Amino acid sequence: MKKFPSIDLGRCSECKGCIETAPSVFCYNLSTSMMEVIEHDEFPEDLVNEAIKNCPEDCISWEDSALCR
Ligand code: SF4
Repeated sequence: MKKFPSIDLGRCSECKGCIETAPSVFCYNLSTSMMEVIEHDEFPEDLVNEAIKNCPEDCISWEDSALCR
C-alpha cells in the first residue's frame, strides 16, 4: 500500500514551514490560497518526517492509500 503525506487544511496556519523543510513535497497554491502536497510516486520519507515534526499545528500526517494518486 502506498503512503503519502496529507495536510489537515482546517488546522493549517499556512506558515509555510513545511515548504522550507521539504520544498519538493509541499507547495502553496496561489489559485486556491491553500497548501498542497505535490504528487510523487515515492515521497522522501526523512524530509516528510522532519516536516511532520516541525509543523507548529501538528496537521501533517502519513496516510495509506490503495488508490493510485
Ligand atoms: S508547516 Fe504545518 S501549519 Fe505550516 S504551512 Fe505546513 S502544514 Fe501548514
